[in-house]
Order: sequence, then C-alpha cells, then structure tokens
Amino acid sequence: MFIDIHLHTRIFEGPARADGRRFATPEELRAMLEPHGVRKGVLLPLVSPEGREVLVTVEETLLVVEEHPDFFVPFMSLDPRQLSNSVDADLSHLMKYYMARGCKGIGEVTANLPFEHPLMENMFKHAQDCRLPIIFHVSPQQDFSYGIVDHLGLPLLEGALQKFPELIFLGHSQPFWSEISGDLKEDERNNYPKGKVVEGGAVVRLMREYPNLRGDLSAGSGLNAITRDPQFGHAFMTEFQDRLYFGTDICAPNNEHHERLISFLNDAVESGHIAREVYEKIAWKNAEQLLGL
Ligand SMILES: [Zn+2]
Repeated sequence: MFIDIHLHTRIFEGPARADGRRFATPEELRAMLEPHGVRKGVLLPLVSPEGREVLVTVEETLLVVEEHPDFFVPFMSLDPRQLSNSVDADLSHLMKYYMARGCKGIGEVTANLPFEHPLMENMFKHAQDCRLPIIFHVSPQQDFSYGIVDHLGLPLLEGALQKFPELIFLGHSQPFWSEISGDLKEDERNNYPKGKVVEGGAVVRLMREYPNLRGDLSAGSGLNAITRDPQFGHAFMTEFQDRLYFGTDICAPNNEHHERLISFLNDAVESGHIAREVYEKIAWKNAEQLLGL
C-alpha cells in the first residue's frame, strides 16, 4: 500500500498550457494510482502566480476532497505575500482557518523568493508555530520560473533549517534532488543528472545534520535521485527510512514516472535490497504519522 504525499488536480481547467499539458482530473488520478495500491493522496493547491496559467485555490482543493473524502487529503497552499505583503502579516490566522477545514500541511510552496527573504521567513515562523509541515519547490535563481530561490549547495535552505528547527521541510524539485550528489555543477541544477552519486552531496549532508529536513520522493527529480545509482539509492533509503515519503506529483494524465518509482520500490524490497520495514515506512507509514491519519 502507498500514501502519495504530492498530487495536483483541479476542477476548473482554465486555458491550455503552451505545451498542451493539463492536470489530471480527480477521477483520472484515482484511476492512475489505485491499481498500484495507492490508498490515499495529498492534494497540493498552487496559489502563487509564478509558472501558472490559473491558480489552484485551497477552496477548489477542499471541494475535491469533499467529493472524495476516502482518498484525498488536503494541504493548504499559501503565498508569503498574502494578506498585507509585510513581515508582520498574521499568516497563522489563515493557517488556523484551513487547519480547521482539514488541511494537514502547507504546499506546494512555489513563490519565487529566496529562503532568507523576510516574507518567506515570516511564513516559516507561522508554519512552525502552527506545527504544519511545508512541501516546497526550489528555483535555481530569482526571477526564474517558480520555487523558493537557493544557490548551489543549498546554503539558504540550510539557514532556514537552522532558524526554524521545529518546522518540517519536505524537499522536492530538481534543484533539491540534484544536490544528492557531491559533483553537481551550476548548469545541471534544474536537471536530472545521471550516473554514480558522488559523496558530499548537500542533500545527504543536510539530512544528516538537520532532523527537520525530509525528502519528498515525487516527480522525475525524486525518482532520479534514488534510481540513478541504485546501490546508493538503497543505502539512502535505509539511512533515512524515517524521513522519506512516497509521492508521485502526477501533473498530466499521460505521466508514467510514478509507475517507475513504484516498480523501483517494489523491486528493492522483493530483491532484499531494502528491508520490508524500510519499504513500509517510505510507502505509507511515515506519511500516516506526518499527517496524523
Ligand atoms: Zn508538485
């Protein structure tokens, strides 16, 4: 069985994207996931304008959950500029409102501001006070696409991990997972680097040093991090078995990467490369605990 920590869907389709893709509907998501043993999925709204034709509001997400209460679990998404666009915006007010409506965390955070930006830190402070975990996307630079901005080696994320030790950060996206290897170069950060994982990767170091950092294995980026060097992947999953989460980030009805992640995990346990307990924690037990299900 699996719990999927990272999904997107929508009711209102909006204009077509330039690449022709569209989010899978709630029904399409269930049809893609349930045959593989996925029993629950976390829906992440998208409320920041960067990279979006139409926003996916928390309200729209709650409507989907109302229709599928047996399967979907809602997160709230917030933008640090919300309310007064100031460092003293009382974001706890919003967070508590959505917590009362069943939201179990915050994400996907995609605002294109650095981790150390005062507005971002204000959001982290309120999230920490409300004990809400955060799923975030990283952008390799400011004014580029979407995601919280950090540099090679993730120094700004490290600063946030230090400053907000009680806040659970779930890392996701290419600029996060490409840092699994110590030989990452600037021009490969937003990519899916292949080959052996070299010692000294920022993700490994930060996970060792900061218990509040977790890994969201969704999307091509999470898949690539643990499959590019399978021997490393098995060891990584074993070392961080209490802090990794199965997820898919299915973004379109024709996506297939989730099937590759599921096969990799199933093969790893069936071949004895990871213990059954490690598999179960990553597949669903860690998520169950995080979400209080
Ligand atoms: Zn996502």
